[in-house]
Amino acid sequence: MGEIRFQNTLSGRVEPFVPLTPGVARIYSCGPTVYDFAHIGNFRTFVFQDVLRRFLAMEGFRIQQVMNLTDVDDRIIQNAAAAGVGIREYTENYVKAFLEDMGALGLERPEKIVRATDHIEQMVALVERLRDRTYTYASDGSIYYRIAKFPAYGKLSKIDVSGMQAGARVETDRYEKEDVRDFALWKAPKPGEHFWETRIGPGRPGWHLECSAMAMHYLGETLDIHTGGIDLAFPHHENEIAQSEAATGKPFVHYWLHGEHLLVDGEKMSKSLGNFYTLRDLFARGHKPSSIRYLLASVPYRRQLNFTMDGLQQAASSVERLRNFAARLRAEKLPEGTTPGFAERALNAETEFLAGLGDDLNTAQALAAVFDLVRDANSAMDRSEFRSGDAPAVLSALDRFDRIFAVLKDRDAERLLALGYGTSEEISRQEVEHLVAERQAARKRRDFTAADQVRQKLLDRGILLEDTRDGGVRWKRK
Ligand SMILES: [Zn+2]
Repeated sequence: MGEIRFQNTLSGRVEPFVPLTPGVARIYSCGPTVYDFAHIGNFRTFVFQDVLRRFLAMEGFRIQQVMNLTDVDDRIIQNAAAAGVGIREYTENYVKAFLEDMGALGLERPEKIVRATDHIEQMVALVERLRDRTYTYASDGSIYYRIAKFPAYGKLSKIDVSGMQAGARVETDRYEKEDVRDFALWKAPKPGEHFWETRIGPGRPGWHLECSAMAMHYLGETLDIHTGGIDLAFPHHENEIAQSEAATGKPFVHYWLHGEHLLVDGEKMSKSLGNFYTLRDLFARGHKPSSIRYLLASVPYRRQLNFTMDGLQQAASSVERLRNFAARLRAEKLPEGTTPGFAERALNAETEFLAGLGDDLNTAQALAAVFDLVRDANSAMDRSEFRSGDAPAVLSALDRFDRIFAVLKDRDAERLLALGYGTSEEISRQEVEHLVAERQAARKRRDFTAADQVRQKLLDRGILLEDTRDGGVRWKRK
Protein backbone atom coordinates (compact mmCIF):
# COMPACT_ATOMS: atom_id res chain seq x y z
CA MET A 1 0.00 0.00 0.00
CA GLY A 2 1.42 3.35 -1.00
CA GLU A 3 0.40 6.55 0.70
CA ILE A 4 -3.07 7.71 -0.21
CA ARG A 5 -4.01 11.36 0.18
CA PHE A 6 -7.36 13.04 -0.26
CA GLN A 7 -8.40 16.64 -0.54
CA ASN A 8 -10.88 16.84 2.35
CA THR A 9 -13.63 19.43 1.92
CA LEU A 10 -14.12 19.51 5.69
CA SER A 11 -10.56 20.51 6.60
CA GLY A 12 -9.88 22.25 3.29
CA ARG A 13 -6.57 20.38 3.15
CA VAL A 14 -4.93 17.40 1.51
CA GLU A 15 -4.64 14.69 4.17
CA PRO A 16 -3.31 11.14 4.32
CA PHE A 17 -6.13 8.62 4.34
CA VAL A 18 -6.27 6.81 7.69
CA PRO A 19 -9.41 4.68 8.06
CA LEU A 20 -11.12 4.04 11.40
CA THR A 21 -10.48 0.32 11.14
CA PRO A 22 -7.20 -0.61 9.45
CA GLY A 23 -7.80 -2.19 6.06
CA VAL A 24 -11.47 -1.24 5.84
CA ALA A 25 -12.94 1.73 3.95
CA ARG A 26 -16.48 2.70 4.93
CA ILE A 27 -17.95 4.93 2.27
CA TYR A 28 -21.34 6.56 1.89
CA SER A 29 -22.24 7.93 -1.53
CA CYS A 30 -25.27 10.06 -2.27
CA GLY A 31 -27.10 8.30 -5.08
CA PRO A 32 -29.69 9.55 -7.55
CA THR A 33 -33.20 10.81 -6.98
CA VAL A 34 -35.13 8.32 -9.05
CA TYR A 35 -37.76 10.55 -10.66
CA ASP A 36 -36.03 10.70 -14.04
CA PHE A 37 -33.01 9.29 -15.90
CA ALA A 38 -29.68 10.33 -14.41
CA HIS A 39 -27.72 12.75 -16.61
CA ILE A 40 -24.03 12.79 -17.48
CA GLY A 41 -23.31 15.32 -14.73
CA ASN A 42 -24.64 12.78 -12.23
CA PHE A 43 -22.58 10.08 -13.88
CA ARG A 44 -19.44 12.11 -13.58
CA THR A 45 -19.85 11.81 -9.81
CA PHE A 46 -20.73 8.11 -9.99
CA VAL A 47 -17.67 7.40 -12.15
CA PHE A 48 -15.45 9.26 -9.67
CA GLN A 49 -16.94 7.16 -6.86
CA ASP A 50 -16.23 4.03 -8.88
CA VAL A 51 -12.60 5.05 -9.42
CA LEU A 52 -12.33 5.69 -5.68
CA ARG A 53 -13.62 2.27 -4.66
CA ARG A 54 -11.64 0.43 -7.34
CA PHE A 55 -8.44 2.17 -6.29
CA LEU A 56 -8.93 1.54 -2.56
CA ALA A 57 -9.74 -2.11 -3.31
CA MET A 58 -6.59 -2.41 -5.44
CA GLU A 59 -4.63 -0.97 -2.52
CA GLY A 60 -5.93 -3.79 -0.36
CA PHE A 61 -8.86 -2.19 1.44
CA ARG A 62 -12.05 -4.07 2.09
CA ILE A 63 -14.73 -1.75 0.76
CA GLN A 64 -18.02 -1.16 2.49
CA GLN A 65 -19.86 1.31 0.30
CA VAL A 66 -23.48 2.28 0.72
CA MET A 67 -25.37 4.24 -1.92
CA ASN A 68 -28.89 5.51 -1.42
CA LEU A 69 -31.67 5.82 -3.92
CA THR A 70 -33.87 8.78 -3.06
CA ASP A 71 -37.24 7.33 -3.94
CA VAL A 72 -39.31 9.83 -1.99
CA ASP A 73 -39.28 13.60 -2.41
CA ASP A 74 -41.73 16.32 -3.35
CA ARG A 75 -41.40 15.83 -7.09
CA ILE A 76 -41.78 12.06 -6.84
CA ILE A 77 -44.83 12.39 -4.63
CA GLN A 78 -46.42 14.97 -6.94
CA ASN A 79 -45.60 13.10 -10.15
CA ALA A 80 -46.87 9.81 -8.73
CA ALA A 81 -50.07 11.44 -7.54
CA ALA A 82 -50.55 13.04 -10.97
CA ALA A 83 -49.98 9.70 -12.67
CA GLY A 84 -52.36 8.01 -10.24
CA VAL A 85 -49.81 5.41 -9.11
CA GLY A 86 -47.99 4.66 -5.87
CA ILE A 87 -44.52 6.13 -5.40
CA ARG A 88 -42.94 2.67 -5.50
CA GLU A 89 -44.51 1.97 -8.84
CA TYR A 90 -43.57 5.40 -10.13
CA THR A 91 -39.89 5.11 -9.18
CA GLU A 92 -39.45 1.46 -10.20
CA ASN A 93 -38.62 2.19 -13.84
CA TYR A 94 -36.05 4.81 -12.95
CA VAL A 95 -34.39 2.53 -10.41
CA LYS A 96 -34.15 -0.15 -13.08
CA ALA A 97 -32.78 2.36 -15.61
CA PHE A 98 -30.19 3.61 -13.15
CA LEU A 99 -28.90 0.10 -12.43
CA GLU A 100 -28.75 -0.62 -16.17
CA ASP A 101 -26.87 2.63 -16.80
CA MET A 102 -24.40 1.71 -14.05
CA GLY A 103 -23.84 -1.63 -15.76
CA ALA A 104 -23.36 0.01 -19.16
CA LEU A 105 -20.63 2.27 -17.77
CA GLY A 106 -18.95 -0.62 -15.98
CA LEU A 107 -19.59 0.87 -12.54
CA GLU A 108 -19.09 -1.65 -9.76
CA ARG A 109 -22.10 -2.14 -7.54
CA PRO A 110 -21.67 -0.68 -4.06
CA GLU A 111 -21.99 -3.34 -1.36
CA LYS A 112 -25.41 -1.91 -0.56
CA ILE A 113 -27.78 0.13 -2.68
CA VAL A 114 -30.60 1.15 -0.38
CA ARG A 115 -33.93 2.86 -0.85
CA ALA A 116 -35.11 5.66 1.37
CA THR A 117 -38.65 4.26 1.60
CA ASP A 118 -37.30 1.05 3.15
CA HIS A 119 -35.79 3.02 6.06
CA ILE A 120 -38.62 5.14 7.43
CA GLU A 121 -38.19 3.46 10.85
CA GLN A 122 -34.50 4.48 11.08
CA MET A 123 -35.42 8.04 10.11
CA VAL A 124 -38.19 8.26 12.70
CA ALA A 125 -35.78 6.95 15.35
CA LEU A 126 -33.24 9.63 14.41
CA VAL A 127 -35.85 12.38 14.71
CA GLU A 128 -36.79 11.02 18.16
CA ARG A 129 -33.16 11.08 19.19
CA LEU A 130 -32.82 14.70 18.04
CA ARG A 131 -36.10 15.61 19.74
CA ASP A 132 -34.86 14.13 23.05
CA ARG A 133 -31.83 16.40 22.77
CA THR A 134 -34.08 19.41 21.99
CA TYR A 135 -32.75 19.98 18.48
CA THR A 136 -36.22 19.91 16.99
CA TYR A 137 -39.49 21.80 17.10
CA ALA A 138 -42.84 21.21 15.52
CA SER A 139 -44.70 23.70 13.38
CA ASP A 140 -47.86 23.18 11.31
CA GLY A 141 -47.50 19.39 11.50
CA SER A 142 -43.88 19.40 10.30
CA ILE A 143 -40.77 18.89 12.44
CA TYR A 144 -37.80 21.22 12.00
CA TYR A 145 -34.15 21.15 12.95
CA ARG A 146 -33.11 24.07 15.15
CA ILE A 147 -29.82 25.25 13.65
CA ALA A 148 -29.21 27.85 16.37
CA LYS A 149 -28.48 24.89 18.68
CA PHE A 150 -25.64 23.59 16.46
CA PRO A 151 -22.88 26.23 16.45
CA ALA A 152 -20.65 24.20 14.11
CA TYR A 153 -23.19 24.65 11.31
CA GLY A 154 -21.41 25.73 8.13
CA LYS A 155 -18.09 24.01 8.88
CA LEU A 156 -18.19 21.86 5.75
CA SER A 157 -19.29 24.34 3.10
CA LYS A 158 -17.69 27.35 4.85
CA ILE A 159 -20.79 29.24 3.86
CA ASP A 160 -21.34 32.28 6.02
CA VAL A 161 -24.79 31.73 7.42
CA SER A 162 -24.74 34.72 9.76
CA GLY A 163 -26.36 36.95 7.17
CA MET A 164 -29.34 34.65 6.89
CA GLN A 165 -31.46 36.58 9.43
CA ALA A 166 -30.75 34.18 12.26
CA GLY A 167 -33.45 34.27 14.88
CA ALA A 168 -35.96 36.05 12.70
CA ARG A 169 -39.28 34.40 12.42
CA VAL A 170 -39.76 33.92 8.70
CA GLU A 171 -42.70 32.54 6.88
CA THR A 172 -41.69 30.59 3.78
CA ASP A 173 -44.19 29.74 1.08
CA ARG A 174 -45.74 26.91 3.03
CA TYR A 175 -44.30 26.45 6.46
CA GLU A 176 -43.49 28.60 9.42
CA LYS A 177 -39.96 28.33 10.83
CA GLU A 178 -38.21 29.91 13.81
CA ASP A 179 -35.15 30.66 11.73
CA VAL A 180 -34.77 30.86 7.98
CA ARG A 181 -31.84 28.44 8.11
CA ASP A 182 -33.86 25.71 9.81
CA PHE A 183 -34.77 22.77 7.63
CA ALA A 184 -37.54 20.19 7.72
CA LEU A 185 -36.71 16.79 9.15
CA TRP A 186 -40.25 15.56 8.73
CA LYS A 187 -42.88 17.13 6.50
CA ALA A 188 -46.59 17.32 7.22
CA PRO A 189 -48.81 15.36 4.82
CA LYS A 190 -50.60 17.18 2.05
CA PRO A 191 -54.10 16.26 0.93
CA GLY A 192 -54.15 13.49 -1.64
CA GLU A 193 -50.42 12.79 -1.37
CA HIS A 194 -48.49 9.87 -0.03
CA PHE A 195 -47.57 9.86 3.68
CA TRP A 196 -46.50 7.49 6.44
CA GLU A 197 -48.29 7.10 9.78
CA THR A 198 -45.49 7.02 12.39
CA ARG A 199 -44.65 7.58 16.07
CA ILE A 200 -43.67 11.17 15.30
CA GLY A 201 -46.91 11.78 13.45
CA PRO A 202 -48.10 11.39 9.87
CA GLY A 203 -45.91 12.74 7.09
CA ARG A 204 -42.85 12.06 4.98
CA PRO A 205 -39.11 12.36 5.57
CA GLY A 206 -36.94 15.26 4.47
CA TRP A 207 -34.19 14.40 2.00
CA HIS A 208 -31.31 15.24 4.38
CA LEU A 209 -32.71 12.98 7.08
CA GLU A 210 -32.68 9.93 4.86
CA CYS A 211 -28.92 10.06 4.20
CA SER A 212 -27.96 10.54 7.85
CA ALA A 213 -30.24 7.70 8.96
CA MET A 214 -29.11 5.20 6.32
CA ALA A 215 -25.41 6.08 6.49
CA MET A 216 -25.31 5.52 10.26
CA HIS A 217 -27.55 2.45 10.11
CA TYR A 218 -25.22 0.60 7.76
CA LEU A 219 -21.80 2.10 8.44
CA GLY A 220 -21.85 3.16 12.09
CA GLU A 221 -21.99 6.59 13.70
CA THR A 222 -18.65 7.69 12.22
CA LEU A 223 -17.71 6.87 8.66
CA ASP A 224 -14.45 7.16 6.78
CA ILE A 225 -15.56 8.78 3.53
CA HIS A 226 -18.66 10.54 2.28
CA THR A 227 -18.86 11.40 -1.41
CA GLY A 228 -21.16 13.42 -3.63
CA GLY A 229 -21.28 16.20 -6.17
CA ILE A 230 -20.07 19.62 -5.01
CA ASP A 231 -23.60 21.02 -5.34
CA LEU A 232 -24.59 18.73 -2.44
CA ALA A 233 -22.08 20.21 0.03
CA PHE A 234 -24.59 22.92 0.96
CA PRO A 235 -27.15 22.49 2.27
CA HIS A 236 -27.50 18.70 1.95
CA HIS A 237 -24.23 17.54 3.48
CA GLU A 238 -24.11 20.40 5.95
CA ASN A 239 -27.51 19.28 7.18
CA GLU A 240 -26.41 15.65 7.34
CA ILE A 241 -23.57 16.71 9.64
CA ALA A 242 -25.92 18.79 11.81
CA GLN A 243 -28.36 15.89 12.20
CA SER A 244 -25.84 13.12 12.78
CA GLU A 245 -23.45 14.95 15.08
CA ALA A 246 -26.23 16.45 17.18
CA ALA A 247 -27.72 12.99 17.66
CA THR A 248 -24.50 11.10 18.45
CA GLY A 249 -22.08 13.73 19.77
CA LYS A 250 -19.44 12.11 17.52
CA PRO A 251 -17.83 13.19 14.25
CA PHE A 252 -20.05 11.95 11.42
CA VAL A 253 -17.50 11.70 8.59
CA HIS A 254 -13.70 11.98 8.51
CA TYR A 255 -13.17 12.64 4.79
CA TRP A 256 -15.60 14.54 2.60
CA LEU A 257 -14.86 14.12 -1.11
CA HIS A 258 -16.79 16.24 -3.60
CA GLY A 259 -16.81 15.91 -7.38
CA GLU A 260 -16.68 19.20 -9.29
CA HIS A 261 -19.24 20.32 -11.84
CA LEU A 262 -19.51 19.05 -15.34
CA LEU A 263 -20.05 21.66 -18.04
CA VAL A 264 -21.19 20.94 -21.57
CA ASP A 265 -19.49 23.06 -24.24
CA GLY A 266 -18.38 25.41 -21.50
CA GLU A 267 -21.86 26.01 -20.13
CA LYS A 268 -23.92 24.69 -17.29
CA MET A 269 -25.98 21.81 -18.57
CA SER A 270 -29.66 22.66 -18.84
CA LYS A 271 -32.65 21.45 -20.77
CA SER A 272 -33.41 24.97 -22.00
CA LEU A 273 -29.94 25.36 -23.54
CA GLY A 274 -30.34 22.06 -25.37
CA ASN A 275 -27.07 20.75 -23.92
CA PHE A 276 -28.64 18.34 -21.46
CA TYR A 277 -27.71 14.69 -21.93
CA THR A 278 -28.65 11.49 -20.26
CA LEU A 279 -26.39 8.53 -20.91
CA ARG A 280 -29.02 7.16 -23.27
CA ASP A 281 -29.10 10.37 -25.33
CA LEU A 282 -25.42 9.76 -26.05
CA PHE A 283 -25.90 6.06 -26.80
CA ALA A 284 -28.66 6.97 -29.23
CA ARG A 285 -26.20 9.26 -31.04
CA GLY A 286 -23.83 6.35 -31.46
CA HIS A 287 -21.37 7.07 -28.66
CA LYS A 288 -19.88 4.11 -26.86
CA PRO A 289 -20.09 3.42 -23.13
CA SER A 290 -16.30 3.05 -22.97
CA SER A 291 -15.69 6.51 -24.50
CA ILE A 292 -18.07 8.11 -22.01
CA ARG A 293 -16.60 6.27 -19.05
CA TYR A 294 -13.08 7.15 -20.16
CA LEU A 295 -13.87 10.84 -20.68
CA LEU A 296 -15.63 11.15 -17.31
CA ALA A 297 -12.78 9.38 -15.50
CA SER A 298 -9.92 11.13 -17.27
CA VAL A 299 -10.34 14.54 -15.62
CA PRO A 300 -9.46 14.49 -11.90
CA TYR A 301 -12.68 14.72 -9.89
CA ARG A 302 -11.78 17.98 -8.16
CA ARG A 303 -11.42 19.76 -11.50
CA GLN A 304 -14.24 21.08 -13.59
CA LEU A 305 -14.87 18.85 -16.59
CA ASN A 306 -15.90 20.43 -19.86
CA PHE A 307 -17.80 17.78 -21.77
CA THR A 308 -17.73 18.22 -25.56
CA MET A 309 -18.42 15.95 -28.51
CA ASP A 310 -14.81 16.51 -29.60
CA GLY A 311 -13.63 15.37 -26.20
CA LEU A 312 -15.80 12.30 -26.55
CA GLN A 313 -14.23 11.51 -29.95
CA GLN A 314 -10.77 11.92 -28.46
CA ALA A 315 -11.72 9.62 -25.61
CA ALA A 316 -12.87 7.05 -28.16
CA SER A 317 -9.52 7.20 -29.98
CA SER A 318 -7.60 6.96 -26.70
CA VAL A 319 -9.51 3.81 -25.80
CA GLU A 320 -8.99 2.44 -29.29
CA ARG A 321 -5.24 3.14 -29.07
CA LEU A 322 -4.99 1.20 -25.83
CA ARG A 323 -7.07 -1.69 -27.15
CA ASN A 324 -4.97 -1.86 -30.31
CA PHE A 325 -1.82 -1.87 -28.26
CA ALA A 326 -3.11 -4.69 -26.04
CA ALA A 327 -4.09 -6.66 -29.16
CA ARG A 328 -0.68 -6.03 -30.73
CA LEU A 329 1.04 -7.22 -27.58
CA ARG A 330 -0.93 -10.45 -27.73
CA ALA A 331 -0.63 -11.02 -31.48
CA GLU A 332 2.83 -9.89 -32.46
CA LYS A 333 5.58 -12.47 -32.72
CA LEU A 334 8.24 -10.96 -30.49
CA PRO A 335 11.93 -11.83 -30.61
CA GLU A 336 13.12 -13.89 -27.66
CA GLY A 337 14.91 -12.39 -24.69
CA THR A 338 14.69 -9.06 -22.92
CA THR A 339 15.73 -5.52 -23.72
CA PRO A 340 17.91 -4.07 -20.98
CA GLY A 341 15.98 -1.51 -18.98
CA PHE A 342 12.55 -2.12 -20.44
CA ALA A 343 11.10 -4.10 -17.53
CA GLU A 344 12.27 -1.34 -15.25
CA ARG A 345 10.72 1.24 -17.57
CA ALA A 346 7.36 -0.56 -17.27
CA LEU A 347 7.66 -0.91 -13.52
CA ASN A 348 8.28 2.83 -13.23
CA ALA A 349 5.15 3.50 -15.26
CA GLU A 350 3.16 1.32 -12.90
CA THR A 351 4.58 3.12 -9.86
CA GLU A 352 3.80 6.47 -11.45
CA PHE A 353 0.25 5.29 -12.23
CA LEU A 354 -0.35 4.33 -8.60
CA ALA A 355 1.30 7.49 -7.29
CA GLY A 356 -1.06 9.56 -9.45
CA LEU A 357 -4.13 7.83 -8.07
CA GLY A 358 -2.78 8.01 -4.53
CA ASP A 359 -2.51 11.77 -4.95
CA ASP A 360 -6.21 12.55 -4.48
CA LEU A 361 -7.16 10.33 -7.45
CA ASN A 362 -5.19 12.29 -10.01
CA THR A 363 -6.40 10.27 -12.98
CA ALA A 364 -4.74 12.61 -15.49
CA GLN A 365 -1.30 11.83 -14.04
CA ALA A 366 -2.12 8.12 -13.92
CA LEU A 367 -3.19 8.11 -17.57
CA ALA A 368 -0.11 10.02 -18.68
CA ALA A 369 2.08 7.30 -17.16
CA VAL A 370 0.24 4.61 -19.10
CA PHE A 371 0.28 6.45 -22.42
CA ASP A 372 4.00 7.19 -22.14
CA LEU A 373 4.63 3.51 -21.62
CA VAL A 374 2.42 2.52 -24.56
CA ARG A 375 4.20 5.00 -26.82
CA ASP A 376 7.62 3.68 -25.80
CA ALA A 377 6.57 0.06 -26.18
CA ASN A 378 4.99 0.69 -29.59
CA SER A 379 8.09 2.38 -30.94
CA ALA A 380 10.34 -0.31 -29.46
CA MET A 381 8.19 -2.88 -31.29
CA ASP A 382 8.45 -0.90 -34.53
CA ARG A 383 12.24 -1.07 -34.18
CA SER A 384 12.03 -4.80 -33.30
CA GLU A 385 13.61 -3.93 -29.97
CA PHE A 386 10.74 -5.11 -27.87
CA ARG A 387 11.26 -8.70 -26.79
CA SER A 388 9.03 -11.39 -25.38
CA GLY A 389 10.66 -11.07 -21.97
CA ASP A 390 9.60 -7.39 -21.82
CA ALA A 391 5.92 -8.19 -22.29
CA PRO A 392 4.96 -9.38 -18.77
CA ALA A 393 5.92 -6.09 -17.10
CA VAL A 394 3.94 -4.13 -19.69
CA LEU A 395 0.96 -6.44 -19.37
CA SER A 396 1.07 -5.97 -15.60
CA ALA A 397 0.92 -2.18 -16.03
CA LEU A 398 -1.99 -2.53 -18.47
CA ASP A 399 -3.78 -4.79 -16.04
CA ARG A 400 -3.42 -2.20 -13.27
CA PHE A 401 -4.73 0.44 -15.61
CA ASP A 402 -7.77 -1.59 -16.50
CA ARG A 403 -8.67 -2.47 -12.93
CA ILE A 404 -9.38 1.25 -12.50
CA PHE A 405 -10.43 2.51 -15.93
CA ALA A 406 -12.13 -0.70 -17.09
CA VAL A 407 -12.23 0.01 -20.83
CA LEU A 408 -9.71 -2.42 -22.38
CA LYS A 409 -12.07 -5.31 -22.85
CA ASP A 410 -14.43 -4.32 -25.65
CA ARG A 411 -17.92 -4.87 -24.31
CA ASP A 412 -19.45 -1.80 -25.95
CA ALA A 413 -21.55 -3.57 -28.56
CA GLU A 414 -22.92 -6.07 -26.06
CA ARG A 415 -23.73 -3.37 -23.50
CA LEU A 416 -25.47 -1.17 -26.05
CA LEU A 417 -27.47 -4.07 -27.39
CA ALA A 418 -28.57 -4.93 -23.86
CA LEU A 419 -30.07 -1.45 -23.60
CA GLY A 420 -31.71 -1.74 -27.00
CA TYR A 421 -29.34 0.46 -28.99
CA GLY A 422 -28.75 -1.05 -32.40
CA THR A 423 -25.10 -1.64 -32.93
CA SER A 424 -25.57 -5.08 -34.41
CA GLU A 425 -24.32 -3.52 -37.67
CA GLU A 426 -21.01 -2.74 -36.08
CA ILE A 427 -18.65 -5.63 -35.96
CA SER A 428 -17.34 -6.56 -32.52
CA ARG A 429 -13.66 -6.83 -31.69
CA GLN A 430 -14.03 -10.55 -31.02
CA GLU A 431 -15.55 -11.04 -34.45
CA VAL A 432 -12.73 -9.07 -36.11
CA GLU A 433 -10.09 -11.06 -34.30
CA HIS A 434 -11.79 -14.27 -35.22
CA LEU A 435 -11.83 -13.28 -38.93
CA VAL A 436 -8.24 -12.05 -38.78
CA ALA A 437 -7.18 -15.43 -37.40
CA GLU A 438 -9.15 -17.16 -40.16
CA ARG A 439 -7.33 -15.09 -42.80
CA GLN A 440 -3.96 -15.80 -41.21
CA ALA A 441 -4.71 -19.51 -41.33
CA ALA A 442 -5.66 -19.24 -45.02
CA ARG A 443 -2.42 -17.41 -45.80
CA LYS A 444 -0.44 -20.01 -43.96
CA ARG A 445 -1.86 -22.77 -46.14
CA ARG A 446 -1.25 -20.44 -49.13
CA ASP A 447 -4.95 -20.19 -49.98
CA PHE A 448 -4.73 -16.56 -51.06
CA THR A 449 -8.21 -16.49 -52.60
CA ALA A 450 -9.78 -17.35 -49.25
CA ALA A 451 -7.47 -14.85 -47.50
CA ASP A 452 -8.54 -12.07 -49.88
CA GLN A 453 -12.19 -12.90 -49.40
CA VAL A 454 -11.84 -12.46 -45.65
CA ARG A 455 -9.98 -9.19 -46.14
CA GLN A 456 -12.80 -7.91 -48.36
CA LYS A 457 -15.41 -9.07 -45.87
CA LEU A 458 -13.69 -7.09 -43.12
CA LEU A 459 -13.30 -4.06 -45.38
CA ASP A 460 -17.02 -4.13 -46.14
CA ARG A 461 -17.63 -3.88 -42.43
CA GLY A 462 -15.23 -0.98 -41.97
CA ILE A 463 -12.08 -2.80 -40.90
CA LEU A 464 -8.69 -2.05 -42.50
CA LEU A 465 -5.93 -4.63 -42.30
CA GLU A 466 -2.25 -3.89 -42.37
CA ASP A 467 0.27 -6.70 -42.67
CA THR A 468 3.41 -6.27 -40.61
CA ARG A 469 6.97 -7.14 -41.55
CA ASP A 470 7.09 -10.16 -39.30
CA GLY A 471 4.07 -11.78 -40.95
CA GLY A 472 1.61 -10.52 -38.32
CA VAL A 473 -1.33 -8.26 -38.95
CA ARG A 474 -2.76 -5.11 -37.42
CA TRP A 475 -6.27 -3.79 -37.94
CA LYS A 476 -8.19 -0.65 -37.36
CA ARG A 477 -11.66 0.70 -37.92
CA LYS A 478 -12.06 3.02 -40.92
ZN1 LIG B 1 -27.36 12.34 0.44
